[in-house]
Parts: sequence; structure tokens; C-alpha cells
Amino acid sequence: MGLFISIVVPMYFEEKVVNECYMRLTSVLEQNKINYEIIFINDGSTDNTLQILETLAIKDSRVKIINFSRNFGHQAAVTAGIENSFADAVVVIDADLQDPPELIPEMINLWENGYEVVYAKRKKRKGENWFKLITAKYFYRILSQMTEVSIPIDTGDFRLIDKKVIEEFKKMPEKNRFIRGMISWIGFKQIAIEYERDKRFAGDTKYPLKRMVKFALDGIISFSAKPLKLLGILGFSSVSISLVLLLYTITVKFLNNNDVISGWASLMTTIIFFGGVQLLSVSVLGEYVGRIYDESKNRPLYIIDKKVNF
Ligand code: UDP
Ligand code: MG
Repeated sequence: MGLFISIVVPMYFEEKVVNECYMRLTSVLEQNKINYEIIFINDGSTDNTLQILETLAIKDSRVKIINFSRNFGHQAAVTAGIENSFADAVVVIDADLQDPPELIPEMINLWENGYEVVYAKRKKRKGENWFKLITAKYFYRILSQMTEVSIPIDTGDFRLIDKKVIEEFKKMPEKNRFIRGMISWIGFKQIAIEYERDKRFAGDTKYPLKRMVKFALDGIISFSAKPLKLLGILGFSSVSISLVLLLYTITVKFLNNNDVISGWASLMTTIIFFGGVQLLSVSVLGEYVGRIYDESKNRPLYIIDKKVNF
């Protein structure tokens, strides 16, 4: 069969899963007689991830390695894998085997039937704590309310992407990336397959709260200007409320000749409240401005230390 597939696997401190990941992937791909290469990206791990990968690459020339000069993050690693592939389609998959490689043949099947993107939608997530489940659930629902392009809910980066889509993806140089949104934005024929997400094979999550928040903000900010519009609504409502209060205050003042309006407490509450509203608005603005700054510096998204087997 002529069609050639690249499997893209980002890795950050994954020494405990590398071998298992390689074995699960190769056994599925070989059983299904798929023509493939696996591109592992070592995203600046300083454990034995790279050494283990290099051992695999010596034995198996279909194993390719991109080694970053430092940690550039999950989305940068996935981007590097996609950009360095010349295949007819790319499959992006996590290293920790939360995304079952056994779904790949089904993805390829749909792709051969004319779909340019086949994304895997999580029906269930095993081995995540309640906090991640709840925040992720609401994040994807809020995001889909806010954006004009429809970004599928409960969907990660585990997906098959056709060469046509990849060509367009390569033209998008944005820095604070939300790849699942970018692929939706590109369009073409996209289809979902549902799956149950397993728990991590070994090791810990590389997305602590801080990174989750950054990633969520990247998603919202690069696909929606709604937060800015909400600031306008907030401002408009507080001006309206203050006008009513102003009228009330003046009327009462003139109706009673002596100063009857007292109220240190109400004054303080109002000042603190609107002080808070203003700071909040500035910080929302700041999130946008900071990202504009990142874009304008136009630094490369990642730096490659070396490539193996390319
Ligand atoms: N990852 C990466 N760079 C990072 C963080 C994560 O390449 O800075 C990889 C990680 O090795 C894994 C994938 O991205 O293959 C998803 O990360 P993880 O499983 O920790 O995220 P979770 O599934 O907990 O959301
Ligand atoms: Mg994971």
C-alpha cells in the first residue's frame, strides 16, 4: 500500500512509558500492515527519555527523534512533529497511552473514506481526579459558547490529520497555540470517533494547574474576543447603575436641607467593588496584550538540538 503515515508522539519526562508506547504502537501498526514512521519529540526531558529513544532508533529506522534544546511545551512539540513529517497523514497521540493506539486503524479507515480529519472524542476519562474532570468539562463547554468556529467538546489532540490540512497548518505561525482549535478552524471534512480515555500507563501528568490555566486561556483568547466585549457590557452596566444612584443622591440632597445621606460603609464597598472591576478588566486586557507581544517578537516556536533517523 502506498499511503504513508507519521505517528507524532510528544514526550516530557516519559522514561517509564517510552518502551511500552513504542511496543503498543508498533504492534498495532504492523498487524494492520500500515506503512509508517514514528516521530518522537523529546521536549527537553532530562531523565532517560532521550537515551531510551536513541536505543530504539538504532534498532528500528522507522523511529525518528526530534530533540528540543529545552522544554517548549506540549503544543510546540506536537507542532514540530507535524512540521517535520512528509507523510500522507499524521496521527498525533500522547505518549502515556491514555489514547489507545488501537483506534488508529479505525481513523485510517475513515480517512481513506474521504475524511481529512478524524478526531477522537472522549466519552469517559479514567484515572483523572474530580477537579480535572469538572474543570475540563466546563472549559470545553464555555469555549464552544465563546467561539465562532465550532471546536468540538471533550476532544484533545489525539487525531488523524491529512496532508492537505497539514499544509494549511504550516502556514499558521501563531505562538500561544491551541492546536485542537486551529485544526477545527482550518475546516475540510472532519469526523469524530468516540472512545474511553484510559488512565496514564506510568508517571505523572505534565499538566499541573498552572499549565492547565495557561492552556485554557490560550484556547479562549486565540479563538474569541468575547472576554473583551464582556468588559464593555460590564462597564456599561456599572455606568447605568451609577447614574441611577447619582440621581437618587442629588434628589435626596435637595429634598432634605441637612446632610442626611451618611454611609461610610456603602461608600467603601462601592469603591472597593469598582476598584476590583477595573483591575479585573485591565488583567483581561493584559492577557490579550501579552499574547500580542509574544506574536510581535516573532521568535521561533521551538529550537531543535538534533534530529535522528531523518
Ligand atoms: N508533554 C510534552 N511537553 C510538556 C508537557 C507534556 O511534550 O511540556 C507531553 C507528555 O509527555 C504527554 C503529552 O504531552 O505525551 C500529554 O501530557 P500529559 O499526559 O501529562 O497531560 P494530561 O494527559 O495529564 O492532560
Ligand atoms: Mg496524559
